[in-house]
Amino acid sequence: MDSKIWHPYTPGIGGKEIQIESGTGAYLITKDGRKILDAISSWWVNVHGHGHPYIAEAIGNQAKKLEQVIFAGFTHKPAEDLASRILDFLPGKMGRVFFSDNGSTAIEVALKMALQFHHLSGKRRNKVVALHNAYHGDTFGAMAVGARSTFSEAFKDWLFEVDFIMPPYSNGQDSENEADWAKSLALAEAQLCSNDVAALIVEPLVQGAGGMLMYPKAWLDQLITMAKRYGTIVILDEVFTGFYRTGKPFSTSHLSQLPDIICLSKGLTAGFLPMGLTVCQEFIAKPFYDSDYKTTLYHGHSFTANPLACAAALASLDLFELPDFQPKLNEIVASQFSFYKILLARFPQFLPRNIGTVLALTLRPNDGLDYTHSIRKRIYDYFIERNLLVRPIGNVLYLVPPYCIEIEDLTNLQNEVLQFLNSPDL
Ligand code: PMP
Repeated sequence: MDSKIWHPYTPGIGGKEIQIESGTGAYLITKDGRKILDAISSWWVNVHGHGHPYIAEAIGNQAKKLEQVIFAGFTHKPAEDLASRILDFLPGKMGRVFFSDNGSTAIEVALKMALQFHHLSGKRRNKVVALHNAYHGDTFGAMAVGARSTFSEAFKDWLFEVDFIMPPYSNGQDSENEADWAKSLALAEAQLCSNDVAALIVEPLVQGAGGMLMYPKAWLDQLITMAKRYGTIVILDEVFTGFYRTGKPFSTSHLSQLPDIICLSKGLTAGFLPMGLTVCQEFIAKPFYDSDYKTTLYHGHSFTANPLACAAALASLDLFELPDFQPKLNEIVASQFSFYKILLARFPQFLPRNIGTVLALTLRPNDGLDYTHSIRKRIYDYFIERNLLVRPIGNVLYLVPPYCIEIEDLTNLQNEVLQFLNSPDL
């Protein structure tokens, strides 16, 4: 096919893409009839798999009523319903929901909210603290709070300065020694205690694009407590971890501390339509109440709170409430945990890790985290030849299946991973 498309994250712009005709459940169907198991939920968004008829119908019904309306000065029921259901679904008592279009914009909004919050209260706080190996998106603010890497190399001179803290990486199962945390927390405190840090932003418990790196809940609880003590606004980027990815509704659900701002996207609409949410505590919104134009949050997108995306998100939330959802999720979590145990016993050198539905391991760990690692192609090709969509992050092989995956399919997929790991020259 002579395509004029410039594909994302594709060296050489593209040209060898597989054309997908349709999707059903955990499977993608190609133009020439291949059935490919989507083991990564298509960039982690299709939590209920592909083509779910209930969500498709909800979008269709909404399209017949109202497809889009300006969201300044107007509102609509799908947005109102979604805001209140998300606030009920999130742990703790968050106060306000701001709509945008994707994960990166949810982050931009969070950063702007936090910076303007301090600005409006007359405090000078001009620093942001984030974690090493972080990834928060591809727009400039989101890139700035992410790790300096291959992704941002060409833009590094234009990214605002951020202080990075190294989390104590773990296997996701929290079995490590708390004594090791003292150093990283002391470094964090040295930055936070200057009282000029506006915001701390982290991917809670799992750093996705950084290589499915996991760190302990109790460490994050301590970091959040510390940041709040110094008046720093805590932003949790749940764009990847939200909507049961870590086994619970959100990573925040595992914590005893609550953030001030939570960013959501990806699983929010179950992969049907793009949307992002930035959800904040009421106290963050308060300084913006004044009807003075100076206190307005100047951020909005043409498609803010698109009614079709809201309808998709509401339908996805309905599916989480069905009686068979939780048992199925539990089965996936148990299966991934058993597989993790097997990997730990047989291949500890590959640093297996697991939380909830996420399973990951690092091949060639001595090479460090390398998005451009040559083994990436070998892994990808091995699996795609077997009709399995496994898209490694450099030398990190991971499985992030949709929750509708049949357990038999998940077991077969895990067995293929074992076969691959047993390759003679690996
Ligand atoms: N935050 C996290 C944790 C992510 O994983 C991603 C996307 N991989 C983003 C933000 C950016 O989301 P989007 O690609 O929708 O802009």
